[in-house]
Amino acid sequence: MILFLGIRPGKPSQTSLKGIPCPHCGQQGTLTLVSRPNYFHIFWIPLFTISTSRYIECSHCLKVFDEKSFTPAMQRALPR
Ligand SMILES: [Zn+2]
Repeated sequence: MILFLGIRPGKPSQTSLKGIPCPHCGQQGTLTLVSRPNYFHIFWIPLFTISTSRYIECSHCLKVFDEKSFTPAMQRALPR
């Protein structure tokens, strides 16, 4: 019998970061934090979340900042 198990990405959730200018284009209020949980599943039934990948996207210049390139201002604005 074959067991279907593995890691799947979950539904992304979006939070807009207010009052922070985009480091790339300088526009304010255009940054959105996207966090997507990765969960462990058996037969596509989610069991638990393993990790959450997060990135910030600018709706003006469409630049994407991954977690390693978050600025200190972005770090402070992240929800905890
Ligand atoms: Zn931008």
